[in-house]
Amino acid sequence: MSERASVAVVGSGPGGAVAACVLAEAGRDVILVEEGPGLGQQSCRPFSIEEMTQKYRHGGVTAALGPCPVAYVEGCAVGGGSEVNSALYHRAPAARLEEWARRFAVEGLGEKDLAPHFEALEAELSVLRDSTEVHPAGRKLAAGAASLGLECRQAPRMARPGPGPLHRLAMSDTYIPRALKAGCRLLDQTRVERLQRRGRGWVLKARTLGPLFEIEADQVFLACGAIQTPALLRRSGLAPRAGATLAIHPMAKLVAQFPEEVNGPDLGVAAQQVKPPHGRWSFGCSISSPQNLALNLLDYPEPLSRLARDWRRMASFYVMVPGSGRGEVGLLPGCPDPLVRYALSPEELRGLDDGLQELARLLQAAGAERVFAAPAAGPDARLTTLHLMASCPMGEHGGLCAADSFGRVRGSEGLRLADASLFCGPLGVNPQGTVMALSRRNALAFLKGGPEE
Ligand SMILES: Cc1cc2nc3c(=O)[nH]c(=O)nc-3n(C[C@H](O)[C@H](O)[C@H](O)COP(=O)(O)OP(=O)(O)OC[C@H]3O[C@@H](n4cnc5c(N)ncnc54)[C@H](O)[C@@H]3O)c2cc1C
Repeated sequence: MSERASVAVVGSGPGGAVAACVLAEAGRDVILVEEGPGLGQQSCRPFSIEEMTQKYRHGGVTAALGPCPVAYVEGCAVGGGSEVNSALYHRAPAARLEEWARRFAVEGLGEKDLAPHFEALEAELSVLRDSTEVHPAGRKLAAGAASLGLECRQAPRMARPGPGPLHRLAMSDTYIPRALKAGCRLLDQTRVERLQRRGRGWVLKARTLGPLFEIEADQVFLACGAIQTPALLRRSGLAPRAGATLAIHPMAKLVAQFPEEVNGPDLGVAAQQVKPPHGRWSFGCSISSPQNLALNLLDYPEPLSRLARDWRRMASFYVMVPGSGRGEVGLLPGCPDPLVRYALSPEELRGLDDGLQELARLLQAAGAERVFAAPAAGPDARLTTLHLMASCPMGEHGGLCAADSFGRVRGSEGLRLADASLFCGPLGVNPQGTVMALSRRNALAFLKGGPEE
């Protein structure tokens, strides 16, 4: 078996889905290659253990090694992380874009440059800003923030309101069906193992279930996410700097128990967020299904044993720090999975510790009768992250950047990046809006063409 297309997009998360859609709607012959299955959102209950089994890489059991290991998770399904995430949506902060543009010499990355892309996404997607959705755990966060004099905001969300809980809008609801309608072909359950130059184009060595087969393409957009994109580049012997600069937003969790019910089946995740002006940490609500509560209570045998009785009175919350440690994605010879390492900075460790104490105070002020925080430091720490980025930064600074300002991989004509790996550091807010905006910007720049296209 072999396939051929003018453009191959590898990975169908927010970055890949937007690129495939823009290119297919412009009339290009596009093939979208995705390692995970095409299940759509109806295949299981959102935020359940079943969802983790079906749509997370390795069922969600993946960790960055270091003095304090950090568990991370990646979506592995048609639609990537958007199929499992809370659909919270932010534009990139202007100050962060300015800092990246300055330090990494990125062209066309000002707030004004990205605004048309954010505006187009917001017009095409349904981004709810003032939903009337009232989530009891979100209400607790808001009440606690008010009593500490902090502002609590409801984050915008890509979602469709309905009679029941909000329906989050994933790539399988939005850009992927549009891409397919415009003629894009989708190969799901197909993992690209390596890329090779052939003539003026590329060959993707891919595997569905059986032996390797080839996909030939003139142009390739890699959108495998911030862990898998550098791993694929490195396996292919391309972009030697890929993976050297992984950034994350580390999180620590806390379970709060209230006298009254704050939880229930199908409630989803509240969109309330608290961002104190000092910027050392932010707070929000986490997945609080009984199984997720159990994971967050592993260090507390007594409430864990009473979970079946008490879970409706419990909810999980997070403290997240901006990310100032050092991460890396490498290869282990003979192993299909990359080796991910992350060393938290002293500032991150202090932020997580101080932030957890402040979060406990906030929730107690909101009426929590008990709070159970997971350890936030040392080898027994239970830290997690959902936001992975910046492993192949963009820009014209050759010593720092794996790709140029518009995602072209240095020294590899016809090969582009279109995902969170392109960030130049931690973003500080939920990243998928910025992933989509950059992907749209870069795909349009490609279509416009330049002398080197
Ligand atoms: C549980 C969870 C909650 C989150 N909540 C939010 C939120 O509310 N708001 C927000 O902004 N962000 C959130 N995020 C983060 C957000 O989902 C990611 O930032 C975003 O999905 C990154 O997009 P991407 O296109 O870079 O990569 P991904 O979404 O990771 O997509 C990459 C895709 O490439 C595929 N792939 C990888 N390697 C290969 C290969 N070799 N061959 C073929 N296919 C491959 C993967 O299977 C995957 O589907 C959350 C993430 C998680 C996991």
